Amino acid sequence: MTGQTPRINLLMIESIKHLSIRAGVSALTQHYELLTHDDRPNKKGKLIKCPHCLANERVKSFSFPEKTCPNCMAVIPKHHWLLDQLRL
Ligand SMILES: [Zn+2]
Repeated sequence: MTGQTPRINLLMIESIKHLSIRAGVSALTQHYELLTHDDRPNKKGKLIKCPHCLANERVKSFSFPEKTCPNCMAVIPKHHWLLDQLRL
């Protein structure tokens, strides 16, 4: 059996924002940005989003160099994951 090289999507998502507008009032319902060196998780963990399939995962540590998405099984480098910016 030969080693399988994970395929990395070249079109990388850098941020996601969802705006909800109702009766003229807009609310930011989702905001994800790329995980940076300065980000630290707290005790409850933080939500990160897979840039391939957009599945969320809660993590309590950012000490991984890369992480396999449990949903699409893509191996994603740490700084390609998107971090939830609204529930910090
Ligand atoms: Zn995924």
